[in-house]
Amino acid sequence: MSAQIIDGKTIAGRVRIAVARDVEAFAEEFGGAKPGLATILVGDDPASAIYVNGKQKACREVGMDGFNFPLAADAPREEVVELIERLNADPAVSGILLQLPLPGHLDGAKLTGMIDPRKDVDGLTPVSAGLLALGREGLRPCTPSGVMTLLDAAGAQLEGAEAVVVGRSNLFGKPMAQLLLGANATVTMCHSRTRDLPAVCRRADVLIAAVGRAQMVKADWVKPGATVIDVGMNRGNSTPPTLVGDIDFDAVKEVAGAITPVPGGVGPMTIAFLLRNTLQAARMQRSER
Ligand code: NAP
Repeated sequence: MSAQIIDGKTIAGRVRIAVARDVEAFAEEFGGAKPGLATILVGDDPASAIYVNGKQKACREVGMDGFNFPLAADAPREEVVELIERLNADPAVSGILLQLPLPGHLDGAKLTGMIDPRKDVDGLTPVSAGLLALGREGLRPCTPSGVMTLLDAAGAQLEGAEAVVVGRSNLFGKPMAQLLLGANATVTMCHSRTRDLPAVCRRADVLIAAVGRAQMVKADWVKPGATVIDVGMNRGNSTPPTLVGDIDFDAVKEVAGAITPVPGGVGPMTIAFLLRNTLQAARMQRSER
């Protein structure tokens, strides 16, 4: 039997509607004030420019302020630091997003770490990562948060379940594992040195792939009835190029109980949770005044 297709587009749409409603309530409560997201785009990478434009557009659609700060590809480190410090101090800015990757002369991890953790809407600063690891309140990375909502929408039971995350990046794999652990799943993290990856994946009630290798996860890696989440975004070979996930979707959907498609699965959740984080950051900052 074919798997339930987890419709990320529709679920993300619901999150955005809820955020728009909460932004209105925020404005009523605080004399017309709006949450504001500042994006920093260094250089002219076309994909990064598309992502940043999408994020700015999404802000406007839910009634938030969006401020973009484009910097030249050869902007010196001091200029980026000065901008981050200025935005950290600006009360109109609730959230700051430094679009990655940065040009080679800039250290993305170090610069991200300079963002005030209360404005860290990507959830990537060491403070945010630490709060997550300790199970304390904080801003969580957007894509793993979105996956948790997709799992909930699919009716996945996480308590006591075997969850396998393939990929251990700071951006996705590690925070994903922490969120699953927080939901009382038994979590295994896999990476390029994992021995017999197919066998480890076959144990999973919940299998999440974030590797960046097109259609790597095959049908015989999947336990029948498992919930399968595909985070991968790879360019397919067809013309015009299509987006392809890390899961061999057509084959795996015949084995899994539920599965996310690419596109239309995890992708739309990321921006929806960026908006939600910006609102959460704005609320946290107001409560501190
Ligand atoms: P990343 O930093 O490149 O990490 C990739 C991970 O995959 C690493 O941990 C690596 O292991 C592991 N890996 C590589 N080859 C492997 C193999 N053959 N077997 C097992 N593990 C292997 O990637 P990322 O930033 O997490 O992104 C992963 C994918 O998710 C990309 O396609 C990216 O575009 C996508 N993504 C999508 C969204 C979204 O919004 N939908 C958000 C984030 C990421 P090692 O650590 O051992 O090198």
